Amino acid sequence: MGSSVSESIIEVSGLTRRFGATTALASVSLSLPRGAVYGLVGANGAGKTTLIKHVLGLLRAESGTVRVFGRDPVADPVGVLSRIGYLSEENDIPGWMRVEELMRYSRAFYPAWDAAYAEELRQAFALDPAAKIRNLSKGQRARTGLLIALAHRPELLVLDEPSSGLDPIVRRDILGAIIRTIADEGRTVLFSSHLLGEVEQVADHVTMISQGRIVLSAPLEEIRASHRVDGRVPSLDEIFVAHVGTAAAPSPEA
Ligand code: ATP
Repeated sequence: MGSSVSESIIEVSGLTRRFGATTALASVSLSLPRGAVYGLVGANGAGKTTLIKHVLGLLRAESGTVRVFGRDPVADPVGVLSRIGYLSEENDIPGWMRVEELMRYSRAFYPAWDAAYAEELRQAFALDPAAKIRNLSKGQRARTGLLIALAHRPELLVLDEPSSGLDPIVRRDILGAIIRTIADEGRTVLFSSHLLGEVEQVADHVTMISQGRIVLSAPLEEIRASHRVDGRVPSLDEIFVAHVGTAAAPSPEA
């Protein structure tokens, strides 16, 4: 139905956040409709994680408002978080658990947990069910975190710098998972990255953030079309530099 398709999953209005003398977010407003892949791009310290923490209700809006599924994530954490799959940069899952224990534990948390899908992901990610989390490599841990984020088939998948420090195969898994998730009708993905080449491969919509301000937010196709010069479409990296003055990633990553 038309109205549900255009409904905003995330609605941020006039959000400002300061940490001491640092303004991490400066009057940020965003409206992200359901059913697309949103890439949030910016250099280190631009404000990406701070924005994501507000979406998850881990930070309370000091000024401005945040609504996810039309709800305040701080006032209604269960109502919001049960519908979100989240993979953080730190990926802080308990080290003493085995993969299968973590899967059982997470199943008890999420009413919508899909055990068959979780098992399918475990096999696809080649994770040993008996392995202790603390003994996994960084890439295996990221795959485990991704499994937990995906297996309850969340309406909204939030990935904060999902591929930083990971090898290309894990990155491919992550990108594949993003695509699989949105293939499920009506689901939405918000992921942050400073690897603009990756964002370009999967995002429908790109939001560029610099020093706590949104400098550009539009469908990727629109961004490409409006920056075309003499028939040549610049890369997202080049477009970012044109708007922000510096590159999102300080040095090229493999
Ligand atoms: P990165 O790519 O490095 O993760 P980011 O875009 O996610 O960066 P944020 O983590 O949101 O950036 O940080 C934005 C700014 O706010 C930075 O200047 C950061 O140092 C500051 N900041 C974030 N959290 C805190 C905190 N808890 N205390 C003090 N300053 C903070």
